[in-house]
Amino acid sequence: AEADGSDYYFNSYAGNDIHMQMLQDKVRTEGYRDFIYDNRDIFQGKVVLDVGCGTGILSMFAARAGAAKVIAVDNSDIIHKARANVIENGLDNVITLVKGRIEELELPVKQVDIIISEWMGYFLLFEAMLDSVLVARDRYLAPGGLLAPSASYIYLTAISDQEYMNERANYWDDVYGFKMSAMKESGPVKEADVDIVPSTAVVATRALICEIDHGTATPVSLDFTSSFTLQATQNSTIHALLGYFDVAFSRLQATHGPSCDELAQPVYTNDGSTVAPKALWKQPESSMHGFTTGPHGTPTHWKQTVFVLKEPVAVVVGDELHGQFVCRKSTSNPRELDLEITYFHVPATLKDRIDDARQNAI
Ligand code: SAH
Repeated sequence: AEADGSDYYFNSYAGNDIHMQMLQDKVRTEGYRDFIYDNRDIFQGKVVLDVGCGTGILSMFAARAGAAKVIAVDNSDIIHKARANVIENGLDNVITLVKGRIEELELPVKQVDIIISEWMGYFLLFEAMLDSVLVARDRYLAPGGLLAPSASYIYLTAISDQEYMNERANYWDDVYGFKMSAMKESGPVKEADVDIVPSTAVVATRALICEIDHGTATPVSLDFTSSFTLQATQNSTIHALLGYFDVAFSRLQATHGPSCDELAQPVYTNDGSTVAPKALWKQPESSMHGFTTGPHGTPTHWKQTVFVLKEPVAVVVGDELHGQFVCRKSTSNPRELDLEITYFHVPATLKDRIDDARQNAI
């Protein structure tokens, strides 16, 4: 057994159910499939590494798209089924399966042209699997090689959802007529809830709190501190902050290539609830692929991450929450995250007075 709890982690991927859940998440799996099949020219004749192949699905997409060689790595026992899947589909002449942790393996090739991986966890960084992909990138990706996906973005917004509060946060206030306050998480540590939130609950603009260029990210950069401003778009009561992420695939060479700005950027409007990004990404003249896990998109198995506020905040349109978001790998379990959110409410009226005061001072 390994001291860091990784036995538990890899065992959690050994069974069928978790893989079926991921495969049936169409936003996720079709996102990868469409990027690979719509860009056959860049897979044609290439050497591809699939970090964490699971059932082998992404490796098989790559092989079908014309890859010359695919190395599929997984440390979970699911890889034995992946091998059977590859053979059953007649792709064992292209795909080589290797069992082990990517960090510890000696691969049969020195360099690869493309790394594909589905490493995203809840709130993007839960599970910390991107760290393993970065190790693979630094060790095996050829200069100018491509990472798919190539960039990811974490957003924060605010929601008003009394029903949610009644069902989840306030549940212990009335359990068959009894109060069970002791069951509530108390003190400074409050866990985030993973839940699907309707887009109608969103009552503020969104803020980009983390932007990761997979080509240049380092493990240290995955612990981040970000300040944010959310502006109320409705008169309402904010019950919780809401986190979610988008990923983008780019044809451009991420490594040693263009800066993050030139990579696929999500393009939808700041209110985040009106325009489906996929429609824009899929414009024929653009080579952008990607997907959102936000409340305005089709729900995914990642759902959204709900951070219930200690006290609801009544807001009118134009009011702002100013805050700071700190995200770090947990010291007790590096596959988990320690999040810390602080914020204060800046009413629109106060903002106007501050602006006036500034004007008068000039
Ligand atoms: N690519 C598959 C499975 C994704 S789930 C799909 O898209 O459906 C992530 C997989 O990565 C799991 O099967 C897990 O066992 C594997 N994995 C995570 N970290 C790994 C590492 N460091 N080395 C090898 N495999 C890893």
